[in-house]
Amino acid sequence: MKRTNYCGEVTSKFLGTRQTLCGWVNSYRDHGGVLFIDLRDRSGICQVVVEPSKPFFNEASTVRNEYVIEVTGTVTKRIEGAVNANMKTGEIELVAEEFKILNTSIPLPFDVEKSRSVTEETRLKYRYLDLRNPKMYANLLLRHRLSQAARRYLDGQGFLEVETPILTRSTPEGARDYLVPSRVHHGEFYALPQSPQMFKQTLMASGIDRYFQLARCFRDEDLRADRQPEHTQIDMEMSFVTINDIHEVVEGLMKTLFATAGEDISVPFPKIPYKEAMSKYGSDKPDLRYDLEMKDVSGVFKNTSFKVFADVLGKGGEVRSLVSQGGAATPRAQVDKLVDLAKKNGAKGLVWFKYKEGKLDSPSAKFFTEQELKDLITHSGAQEGDLILLGSDQFAPLCAFMGALRKELVKNFTPKCKWAFAWITDFPLLEYVPEEDRWDAAHNPFTAAHEEDLDKLETDPGSVRSYQFDLVLNGNELASGSVRNCRRDVQERILALMKHSKEESARRFGMLLNALEAGAPPHGGIGLGLDRITALLAGEESIREVIAFPKTAQAVCPLTDSPNVVDDIQLKELALAIVKE
Ligand code: ASP
Repeated sequence: MKRTNYCGEVTSKFLGTRQTLCGWVNSYRDHGGVLFIDLRDRSGICQVVVEPSKPFFNEASTVRNEYVIEVTGTVTKRIEGAVNANMKTGEIELVAEEFKILNTSIPLPFDVEKSRSVTEETRLKYRYLDLRNPKMYANLLLRHRLSQAARRYLDGQGFLEVETPILTRSTPEGARDYLVPSRVHHGEFYALPQSPQMFKQTLMASGIDRYFQLARCFRDEDLRADRQPEHTQIDMEMSFVTINDIHEVVEGLMKTLFATAGEDISVPFPKIPYKEAMSKYGSDKPDLRYDLEMKDVSGVFKNTSFKVFADVLGKGGEVRSLVSQGGAATPRAQVDKLVDLAKKNGAKGLVWFKYKEGKLDSPSAKFFTEQELKDLITHSGAQEGDLILLGSDQFAPLCAFMGALRKELVKNFTPKCKWAFAWITDFPLLEYVPEEDRWDAAHNPFTAAHEEDLDKLETDPGSVRSYQFDLVLNGNELASGSVRNCRRDVQERILALMKHSKEESARRFGMLLNALEAGAPPHGGIGLGLDRITALLAGEESIREVIAFPKTAQAVCPLTDSPNVVDDIQLKELALAIVKE
């Protein structure tokens, strides 16, 4: 190695020693003829001093930011007053005795240290510079440590890391596939895996017993806020397990991962049935750092003459309340914003009251009787000084906008803990798709139904509970998993409800169905979003901050300028032609 040490490691422990450092010029300054260079590598910064008497002084004076240099010198104590207590290497400096410029750099579009404040497009176009930012290095380092810790933990639990194909066929995770045309078989396509789902289940049929992979998953979705066309899952599958076995293994994994990032979490995680999560928090990924719960106050309004509520209740809907503690002081403009937010999320309107001076104050108060208002106070649990928000609709749409309101309200609350995990369990197996008059898998089509509900599969599919579960943390869905169908006949009954004929099922899922009927063991598994876990532990809002080379929200990579056109000859080989609109 050219270097004897990393820049950030040269502390006063090395005083008097000769060291060779290599790295980038983070900054330079001339102080009365003495040149000071802050030399940076991935470990940190070390101050280098070049005295004017040195033969390489003139050469050293030509350095600019981001030049790459090699310096050999003696580690010396900084003079008093020049010590920087905020720097690990702040007590010393390297007095140069040999100096070499290894490479120059053109003037760069942004300062490496300030890269995180330039536009995303620019950051991604010059990602090689952006990644020189110490925070970005810290993120990649954390990701590396988490991946290694996951591998060690899972290895210790008897899991085998098995790679599954990237060129494969469509997998049913509910997104659009990325397709790869075949040159050898014109007109035929591989699909990039949305997840290794069918392969990992097949591995269980193969007797592998415990599988994992840091699996790249490709989903061609309209990119919502913080999605990427490709993401990484810690993907796992186990044989002869119950839901609780899977939860235990994952709780151990999470404890390990969080400890790797210096965070102590307690396990086991609470389990909340899906229905309860929806009715308390209006969401299947509630942020449980806050206690705020919705209350069903339909009873208060059972005889109401307020038409909106009466109509909804008459059609089997509900009225639910959310109470914002201390919210009575909220200015009107802010309350209007909450109403708008509810409307954006599907509400037709929102009724609100400020609980002040012993009564409920609102432009809508006149539509309600004294008794209704009194009962509302009792049933909503509101205290003097609170703001009460009332939504009314059928359960599902009501949850959608009350859930969005809850998310907004808690922004002003103090979290009661740093990390709030929970398992959300007992999801319905199927969801009805009215436009297509068919049922679709709420998770993936291979999730098993509760045995007790199996006889309702054809008669009342909507009420069949599944063995699906999600892992949520601070309002994020971190993972999704389930115990699977291990019998072909049951699997085919479920696929039939989704309107897949036997022939079509055999065509699309043949590999798995065949494996199931050839002695597949009971099995289940989970896929954990490594990008999201890393982002949360790195204190980042976006998963793009923990992916080395991510794409923009438009699914574009400004660094490689992809996607892009290809040569005509390539199209010809694939027997493809571009249709110009
Ligand atoms: N394949 C599932 C997913 O990607 C995870 C699982 O059920 O194991 O969501």
